[in-house]
Amino acid sequence: MRGVVFPGDRRAEVREFPDPEPGPGEVVVEMRVGGLCGSDLHRYRQTAAQRVGMDIIQGHEPSGVVYAVGEGVRRVRPGDRVSVYHYRGCGHCKQCLAGNIMWCPERRGYGGPIHGSCADYILTDERNCMPLPAELTFADGALMACTAGTAFSAMRRLKASGEETVVVFGLGPVGLTGLLMAKAMGARVIGVEPIADRRALAHEFGADETLDPTDTDVVAAIQDLTRGEGADLAYETSGKPAGRKSTAECLRVEGRAVFVGLGMQTEPSDWHPMIVKQLSLLGSYVIPIYLYFDMVDFILEHKLPLGRMVTHRFPIEAAAEAFRVFDQGQTGKVILEWA
Ligand SMILES: [Zn+2]
Ligand SMILES: [Zn+2]
Repeated sequence: MRGVVFPGDRRAEVREFPDPEPGPGEVVVEMRVGGLCGSDLHRYRQTAAQRVGMDIIQGHEPSGVVYAVGEGVRRVRPGDRVSVYHYRGCGHCKQCLAGNIMWCPERRGYGGPIHGSCADYILTDERNCMPLPAELTFADGALMACTAGTAFSAMRRLKASGEETVVVFGLGPVGLTGLLMAKAMGARVIGVEPIADRRALAHEFGADETLDPTDTDVVAAIQDLTRGEGADLAYETSGKPAGRKSTAECLRVEGRAVFVGLGMQTEPSDWHPMIVKQLSLLGSYVIPIYLYFDMVDFILEHKLPLGRMVTHRFPIEAAAEAFRVFDQGQTGKVILEWA
């Protein structure tokens, strides 16, 4: 069969590979549509030196028709139309059983350690063959394998309800799909993207506003569009430092953001663990006054020894000494005390 490899320095080559044979529990899918994804470009842009020994077929958005099944495969049959989930896992660990194959310690991603979807056939596991309804095309199936799946999962994590103003940073396919989903829920959507053609596409997809970050102060514009409050939700797909920075700045108080863009740097950025571990990093600022009563109850019920924090006590006449000691940074709590 034919398969596409990246020898490095922005080259893609079609090479001949042996046709895959399904082992026990495995399935061979004849490809109909294989999507190209932004994350493929990370490898495409590596140097030839970085790609040495990596004759792996690229692509991780497979959709096609089941061609052959291995021993023990019961639920998938030749001729079935499928979208193929793009990580293969062990099938038995805690994460696989929870449906989080992307966190399986033995996960294998297409185009990474195993041959991917830019090929005539792809080898997968029975459990990765997701049924593709007749109403959906193979292009839909390929998109759902990564791009649309990423957007859908992010919208779920964002808990978008449709009542919000959602800012979408980056209007590539992952951003645009999120935009489509947010509009379908009834939200008001502001797209941020430097490329004019992508902004035009966003308007076709129902964007209420689009902003060009190269000629607009995005944060100020979003404030203007939200009566000075800031946006309720943000969906960051650009992976660019400027987009990430504007995301936090454009939100209203108690706004929420989800970050999916990993960026194009060859080395993972500081944001990589936050994104791939699906962390919820929460900001918290002082305390709202209503929480005072809960706090008092908590301190009383648990007999919290707050006073033990106090290591230094001074009368007001010794204020100069109090601040001198405090300034050294070696103390617990320093207090002025009146007898
Ligand atoms: Zn992808
Ligand atoms: Zn596993």
